[in-house]
Amino acid sequence: MDNSAFLGACRALLGDAHVISGEADMAPFLRDWRGRFTGRALAVLRPADTEQVAATVKLCVAARIPIVPQGGNTGLVLGSVPDASGSAVVLSLARMQKVRQVDAVNRTMTVDAGVILQRAQEAAAEQGCLFPLSLAAEGSCTIGGNLSTNAGGTGVLRYGNTRELCLGLEVVTPQGEVWSGLRGLRKDNTGYDLRDLFIGAEGTLGIITGAVLKLYPQPKASVTALAAMESPAAALRLLSVMQDHCGASLTGFELMSAFCMRLVAKHFPALPQPLADGHAQYALLELSSSESEAHAAALLERALGAALGEGAVQDAVVASSAAQSRGLWDLREHIPLAQAADGKNIKHDISLPVSSIADFIAGTEPQLQAAFPGCQLVCFGHLGDGNLHFNVAPPAGVANEDFLHSQEAVNRVVHDAVAAYGGSISAEHGIGALKRDELARYKSPVELNLMRAIKAALDPLGLMNPGKVL
Ligand SMILES: Cc1cc2nc3c(=O)[nH]c(=O)nc-3n(C[C@H](O)[C@H](O)[C@H](O)COP(=O)(O)OP(=O)(O)OC[C@H]3O[C@@H](n4cnc5c(N)ncnc54)[C@H](O)[C@@H]3O)c2cc1C
Repeated sequence: MDNSAFLGACRALLGDAHVISGEADMAPFLRDWRGRFTGRALAVLRPADTEQVAATVKLCVAARIPIVPQGGNTGLVLGSVPDASGSAVVLSLARMQKVRQVDAVNRTMTVDAGVILQRAQEAAAEQGCLFPLSLAAEGSCTIGGNLSTNAGGTGVLRYGNTRELCLGLEVVTPQGEVWSGLRGLRKDNTGYDLRDLFIGAEGTLGIITGAVLKLYPQPKASVTALAAMESPAAALRLLSVMQDHCGASLTGFELMSAFCMRLVAKHFPALPQPLADGHAQYALLELSSSESEAHAAALLERALGAALGEGAVQDAVVASSAAQSRGLWDLREHIPLAQAADGKNIKHDISLPVSSIADFIAGTEPQLQAAFPGCQLVCFGHLGDGNLHFNVAPPAGVANEDFLHSQEAVNRVVHDAVAAYGGSISAEHGIGALKRDELARYKSPVELNLMRAIKAALDPLGLMNPGKVL
């Protein structure tokens, strides 16, 4: 089948409106979120349901056309956009928007892969339940994309990554068959866990079309606090005290360096900063309670009191209203925006054993200073999950573009240190095309060969999202 016969068959299957091939109409599907790369494609295909996805994949197999699955296209590692060859199709799940079922007793929800994360949260809330996955792109990203990147976000400390929030999947295989594994079971030890293969596979093993997601009780109340401390080591002590006192009630623990807070003050001066400048590190804490706000506040104050008592914390403020709590979260959520407003920097989305984080920061920052004198570290992240955004900005007076030429050398310092501490070069965002070569450098040959064997077994023609991950 040549390309024009292929596109004709797609139009007959999906309808003319859902086979997009004009350059201008395709543009938003081909450009990555951060605007770093624009690929080319034969067409953008928009199936309406699982059967149409399966039939579309069969057409692609017959014509040997590579497929790039796409959800909300908010991915940060060039996984959801095609390469520059123009030979692939983008298969967008955006029309698959059905919340198929909410089972409040089983505490599960079955959704199409194209459901926007925020809509999934709302559908759970409408039944008095919580779907706890939450991230800044939640108004645009989809459940299929969240699963395919095993997204993290702000609730991981209490509820886990997307992998932990999924009980079952429906997948269209690279051959165009439908695997219906939409089981709402918390226990199912019947052989290899296919679900876990597809989660985090970034569209390289098949197309997720539906999922059974776990729901939780809605907390009755939550309280937020901001604490200041002298070092990352002190922040780790605070984390330990909070976990000892609050257990599973501790639902957020974010680290923000003084440099991050100053960036926010510089670019968003209207946001109140309730603690004095002059501390080295700040931690944002959130506690949730299934009883009452008074219960959460009492627990938080007792734990903070203990941390102050043992000198882990220099100062702290507890939000006394929902608005104040929002204000504290605003400080954390404006860090990515403030760093973007300040210019480009070299990003690292890393994870480490929580216990190694202070040593990692203390050891790696001097190495960066020695190699790139005056460089500025934008270090913040989900400390409770061992996940840091460890970004390196140019020295004052050095142009962004000039500094970006050092990207590889900066990556090497940071990623070598991550490897030395037993960490991961991608905590949340995945590998995509952006970190593929880094993955090859840091995974062992045994692990890479096992991954390649899985890919070859499931996708022998290599049509699923080629050039990504492996
Ligand atoms: C402002 C902002 C904040 C973010 N914050 C976080 C954060 O806190 N934590 C975090 O983990 N990530 C974060 N991200 C990254 C991104 O939002 C997540 O990776 C998200 O899960 C991607 O969902 P998506 O629907 O946009 O997927 P896309 O970007 O469309 O795709 C991502 C990958 O999944 C594949 N894919 C998509 N849908 C399917 C499917 N149905 N079947 C098979 N493969 C599929 C694609 O091929 C691609 O490889 C953030 C991004 C932005 C822009």
